[in-house]
Amino acid sequence: MNSAHDELAICATQVCRHYVMGQAKVRAVDGVDLKIGRGEFVALLGSSGSGKSTLLNLIAGLDRPTAGNIVVHGRDLARLTSAELAGYRREIVGMVFQAFNLIGSMTLLENVELPMRFAEVERPAREQRVREALQRVGLASRWQHRPAELSGGEQQRAALARALVNRPSVLLADEPTGNLDSHNGEEILRLIGEINGSLGMTVLMVTHERALAERFAQRILVMADGKLCGPEAPPAPVPPQPFPAEAGGGLG
Ligand code: ADP
Ligand code: MG
Repeated sequence: MNSAHDELAICATQVCRHYVMGQAKVRAVDGVDLKIGRGEFVALLGSSGSGKSTLLNLIAGLDRPTAGNIVVHGRDLARLTSAELAGYRREIVGMVFQAFNLIGSMTLLENVELPMRFAEVERPAREQRVREALQRVGLASRWQHRPAELSGGEQQRAALARALVNRPSVLLADEPTGNLDSHNGEEILRLIGEINGSLGMTVLMVTHERALAERFAQRILVMADGKLCGPEAPPAPVPPQPFPAEAGGGLG
């Protein structure tokens, strides 16, 4: 593997995820090329249904592409066995979603500790790391609380702590501010920005909020109809038109 490749956190080549629905084919992700450097903070914009979550899930190893390949920190995901892929999801990537997905019957301590139990981290180390993660998101004093006792913003901060606790190399966030008011949304973005800056964690974040993306991300990509249409993948050139288009006669 060459050194240019080693500097990449994520390298996706011609990735497709097509679903067959009866007679129809849904091209949820359709030929995506994407390179994200280690330590970059990239925002992914695009209208609903454009394939953003599908792409994130492929990078997270939650789903497999129908074509193309994805390399994350030197690991070609297609070559991993399902056990290795589970290890990859546990240790290399952290995820946050629009719905906070905390377990209601567990305290914050237990919620944040959970990924480390799956990773078989020893108990003394677990406690220390839960404390650090909760401190990082400003919830150190709330470790005994259950999710229902917290505001939406606090729940998302706890979900962020849970995503970080195994010290992943890549943070994947799917509309992390989608259920939050603007103040709490901004707070989450500020925290993600801080984590990116201080820990050097690569961030790929889906969002609808262009203004926040412009403030916090280093680079913005836009997805439409399963394809990336940004600097990574310029739109196909329009073939030369032999005649000036007639008024109202365009192809819409
Ligand atoms: P976004 O996150 O940008 O809103 P998604 O990635 O969720 O978009 O979906 C992209 C497209 O793929 C949509 O048309 C959606 O209906 C379709 N899709 C997503 N998941 C499935 C599935 N499991 N089966 C069939 N179609 C799906
Ligand atoms: Mg989505």
